[in-house]
Formats: sequence, C-alpha cells, structure tokens
Amino acid sequence: MPAPNMDVIVSLAKRRGFVFPSSEIYGGMAGFWDYGPLGVELKNNIKAAWWRQMVQLRDDVVGIDAAIVMNPRVWEASGHVAGFSDPMVDCRNCKLRFRADDLKGPPSEIACPNCGSRGTLTDARQFNMMFATHVGPVAESASVAYLRPETAQGIFVNFENVATSMRRSLPFGIAQIGKSFRNEITPGNFIFRDRELEQMEMEFFVHPSQEDRWFAYWVEERHRWWTDVLGIDAERLRLRPHDPGELSHYSKQTTDIEYRFPIGWSELEGIADRTDYDLRAHAAASGKKLSIFDEAAGEHVVPYVIEPAAGVDRALLTVLIDAYEEQQLAGEKRTVLHLRPSLAPIKATVMPLLRNRPELVDRARRLAADLKPRLAAAYDDTASIGKLYRRQDEIGTPYCVTVDVESLTDGAATIRERDSMTQERVALELIPERLEALLAGRAAWEGVPRAAPPAAPGADAAS
Ligand code: ATP
Repeated sequence: MPAPNMDVIVSLAKRRGFVFPSSEIYGGMAGFWDYGPLGVELKNNIKAAWWRQMVQLRDDVVGIDAAIVMNPRVWEASGHVAGFSDPMVDCRNCKLRFRADDLKGPPSEIACPNCGSRGTLTDARQFNMMFATHVGPVAESASVAYLRPETAQGIFVNFENVATSMRRSLPFGIAQIGKSFRNEITPGNFIFRDRELEQMEMEFFVHPSQEDRWFAYWVEERHRWWTDVLGIDAERLRLRPHDPGELSHYSKQTTDIEYRFPIGWSELEGIADRTDYDLRAHAAASGKKLSIFDEAAGEHVVPYVIEPAAGVDRALLTVLIDAYEEQQLAGEKRTVLHLRPSLAPIKATVMPLLRNRPELVDRARRLAADLKPRLAAAYDDTASIGKLYRRQDEIGTPYCVTVDVESLTDGAATIRERDSMTQERVALELIPERLEALLAGRAAWEGVPRAAPPAAPGADAAS
C-alpha cells in the first residue's frame, strides 16, 4: 500500500492520543508538540530499542546523560556560536521569515511567497539557531547560556571522564539520548522539523587510521536497526552520501539514512565522520589534554569520531507512517498499525464481551490486573466489542483478550491477534504465560545478531 498522506497521520495521532499540538488551548506554538498517553509509550519504546541495540547489547559502548545547559564556552569551541546558522530572509510587509534556500530566486527580485508584495524581502542574513537564555538572577550579557542544539557536545566534553572512570581503550563509544533545541526558521511537517526535539546520538572514538572502516560499519549497522529492529520497510529507506558542498563544518564525510516520507525522501539519521575536530577544538579552548593512550599503536592519539545521530521524533513519525494500513473487510474499513510488538504502546487489551454483565467485567478486570506486572496491558469496556477491536487495531495493540459468557463456565478466553485476526481459546490462568510466549517469540529475532565489526581492537592500529 502507498504511504498515507501526512494529514491522515496527524489526525490519527491526535484522535488516538499519540501527539497533540503544544499548548493547544492557546492556539499552539509552531515547532513544539506534546506527546499524549500512547505517544509517550511509543517514544519510550523507540528510545529503549535504540539504547538496547547501541549500549546494552554491546561491550564497546557506554551511555551518559549530560546537562542540557552547559558552560557557554562549549558552544564557542564547537563552532556553534559562529557557525550554527541558516541564511534567512524577512518580509518587511507581512513580517514572515523564510529560509533563503527555500526561495525561488534572489530576494531583491522575487515577490514574498506569503503576501506577494514586491521589493519587501530583505537580503539574506545569517540567523543563529541556538536558543539563548540567562542563568542566574540577573539578565546581563555575562549570564547568557544556550539550550544545547545537539547532544553530541555533552559527550565530547565528558570524553576524559568516561574514558578514565570506565577504563576504556580505543575503539569505544559514548551514547546519549536527550532533548535538543533549534530555533528552526521553518518548523513544520508535523513532528518532522521541531524547535524542541529529542536526539539519539553516539560518538564512536577510533584510531585515526580506522576511520573509513568504522564509518562503513556504522552506516550498515544503523541501517539495519531501522529495518530489523524497528521493522521499517527497506524499500522506503535509502542511503545518501553528502556532496562535499553540503557537509557540516565539522564533517569529512556524511551519509544520511533517508525515508520516503509523504513529503519526499528526507533525512532520518546522519552518520558523520567528525574526525578529531571536536576533541581538538575543546582541547585548545579548555587547555585540557583530550587524547588517549592507544595500546595497540603504542602512542597517545587524539581519536577520530564516527557519529550516528538520529531523531526520536522523526523515528516516531516514520514508525507511524510505515506501520499504517487501511484494509477493506466485508465492505468495512479497518485501519491497522502494524507496529512491532516491542514498539506497541499496549501489548494486550482485555475486554468483556458484555459490559453490563458484572461477572464478565469482574473477571476481565482481574485478568488485566494479573497481566499488568508482566506486560503493558490495558482494560477497556467503553464500547461494543467491534468498536473496541477497531480502536486497538488503530493504535497497534498486537493482542486482544475477550472474556465472554462461556468464560464463566469453561474458564477460558479468546486471544485475537491483530494482523491475522486469528483467534485462539486459552485457559484464563494460562493467558499471562501464553501472551508472554507470543510476545517473546516475536521479539527474539529482532535485531540481535549484529554486522561484524571491522577488526579486533588489537589488529586496528597495527594495520
Ligand atoms: P536537517 O538537515 O533535517 O535540518 P540536520 O542535518 O541538521 O537535519 P543533524 O544535526 O544531523 O540534523 O541531527 C541528527 C538528527 O536529528 C536528524 O537526522 C534528525 O532525525 C534529527 N533532527 C535534527 N533537527 C531536527 C528538527 N528540527 N526536528 C526534529 N528532528 C530533528
């Protein structure tokens, strides 16, 4: 089936409690979104899938959680104060602001794309995308600090702390998931481009002689995460190496993983070869030595860094789009989210067939309570059974359990699977085990074997 258009996803996200416009009762705020009860679960599951693959299943990566506000000198040294900017153009008439590269000609020659007036566009000016704030009680220039525009710098400034406290030698990585803030000129396309966003970044430190091999490794490994772990259709993913002209100031080579969004092919994740740019910049600015003794090479080196950087919000949007399907069943429309069970906000929902029969309600509620400590389970009796199934399909719940009148005599209930809609009858006391087995069976193959790393650390520097 072709990808749904964005409006369909925005509407499902709002109607079913995944994503709401931020502060909506006041008219919202461009570039900011709130995750609802199901959205927060899906988001947590995506982050957990990344953390598991990038940190917990590996022995060469550790995690950190650095502060969002850091010493402002970090952003001077990293180049963000001088260089984290987009050229922008203002319209003096309607006051709207545009990215210069989105305009269809030189600002002095074209009409404003919004109000159509001529001669009102300013020349392009660099616009720094970092949000500034003040730390402490006095709002003076000396107290200016920034909300981080990327999580990476919190990792670089902790390089020495982590390497020493965790007794690391090359190659090794430091991973972090957290909020970043970018004053994007043109936020939009739902949660694709936000001003408050969440990132999943990992900086992998290698001997400089090993950069190309590790770069190729991480491109492959990250692509595999999207397909094998998140279950994204490989046909809708592609790798796009950057042209030299579009590389960031710190990058020697970058490959984007792109998804075919309803708005066209767009970046989901970038894998960048940041060389020793950041560690050298921070060493120079702080006066601290940011190098490591490489035993294989027998020398102190400033490592090179390979960085896979992905966005949580874009991942969530991708998962929703990719999982979405509309089916025609006996003349009726069924909307299903084919979410991997590991990502589904709710794994199993228990429902009584008749909500006006207290014995059924009571038995179903007890079953849901038994399930809760073991898996993400819910109870629902707010509509007829047909409507309840449709709702669970639409939010991607892999299993529904229905307690019916016979359950009171045969002591069993029906488990219905979301995608095939097949049903099986299982004894009530065995249902928790059965659901756990079904979920475990489906999770077992998700992304566990990894692409082989380029070479054993010992072989690295010698080659
Ligand atoms: P773009 O070219 O789309 O502006 P970028 O190249 O600036 O993105 P990076 O700095 O490489 O992005 O950030 C890594 C990841 O963080 C991106 O691949 C994306 O998934 C996510 N990301 C970056 N900016 C935003 C944003 N404004 N809103 C949501 N996610 C974002």
